[in-house]
Amino acid sequence: MNEKNKTKVGDNTRLAHMGNNPRDFHGFVNPPVVHASTVLFPDAGTMASRNQKYTYGTRGTPTTDALAVAMNELEGAAGTIIVPSGLAAVTVPLLAFLSSGDHVLIVDSVYHPTRHFADTMLTRLGVEVSYYDPSADAGIATLMQPNTKVVLTEAPGSGTFEMQDIPAIVDVAHRGGAIVMMDNTWATPLFFRPLDHGVDISIQAATKYPGGHSDVLLGTVSANEACFERLLEAHGALGVCAAPDDVYQVLRGLRTMGVRLERHQQSALSLARWLEGQKGVARVLHPALESHPGHEIWKRDFTGASGLFSIVLDGGREKQAHAFLDALKYFGLGYSWGGYESLAVHVQLSDRTIAQPPKEGPVIRLQIGLEDVEDLRADLAAALAATVKA
Ligand SMILES: *Cc1c(COP(=O)(O)O)cnc(C)c1O
Repeated sequence: MNEKNKTKVGDNTRLAHMGNNPRDFHGFVNPPVVHASTVLFPDAGTMASRNQKYTYGTRGTPTTDALAVAMNELEGAAGTIIVPSGLAAVTVPLLAFLSSGDHVLIVDSVYHPTRHFADTMLTRLGVEVSYYDPSADAGIATLMQPNTKVVLTEAPGSGTFEMQDIPAIVDVAHRGGAIVMMDNTWATPLFFRPLDHGVDISIQAATKYPGGHSDVLLGTVSANEACFERLLEAHGALGVCAAPDDVYQVLRGLRTMGVRLERHQQSALSLARWLEGQKGVARVLHPALESHPGHEIWKRDFTGASGLFSIVLDGGREKQAHAFLDALKYFGLGYSWGGYESLAVHVQLSDRTIAQPPKEGPVIRLQIGLEDVEDLRADLAAALAATVKA
């Protein structure tokens, strides 16, 4: 058990017992997967008053409740909505809290589809969008406007893993009358709890570590007391409810997320340290490494590191990046991450407007899966050898 949490139960104990209460469904350990649109009412009076726990499939079922309760506990949240993808977990809260004429500040190292949504749909709806340097921290003060309503953070940043001083950003944003959202997919609430650090809305692509098996898409958005009602209202208004089998899969995934993350963390850190000394590698972008510019913030605020990081190749361009990827045997070439299997991708950084992409060479993002670490090391060694030759 974590030293800091002596009075609380450990993460894995919580993961094994949170969400549903087996006694609510005949003692079966897992909750039923409720497939539902219609919910019947016992009489016209109850129907008119909607005075019963469940009223319609889009508004929640015992299956979605089980996951929402589990996420509330993990996040320390007042409430959680469940949406059909991680991307929807970003777009729904932005739509909930931004109106025409408002301004949103978004970190420049944001997940690319979030930027696409902001630059197209939010802009079309009359929201003013601007990006800030991932190292700005309290410096966002100079970018705050009277109409700034939301500051969106994501740490570490997508592809390049910049850390952000979340408490400093929260302080400035709140003083300026804005709320703070954080895409916390990388750390999961096991390694960082945004709401404990003042963030108002915590976003999780449950597709990644909570799902854990590359076979389901889901998102969760958890809010503090002040923000949950408005978030829930937007969820209902938009009708973006998730399918019951997917919700069940993610609740199932949560049970093992702690032990999986422990392994992802160990293997990724061991490979990251090894890669730092290898020929052909200019830099390793992993916040738990002492060499990382955001390491002090990571150490201060986070309680662990997950299995995703990048390496910067020492020289070369696309040809060298492709030689690296094509030489890999166990690392698959594919998007997404958080599953049991290792993946690699050549990171495209041309969308950045402020944060400068590494200059030494191509950036390769690695998702370290649950395979035996020696096999992964051999795979990476062969790929580096192929790159140096290319
Ligand atoms: C993958 C990802 C998402 C989106 O999740 P999907 O379920 O694939 O839509 C959002 N944010 C971050 C940081 C991600 O890595």
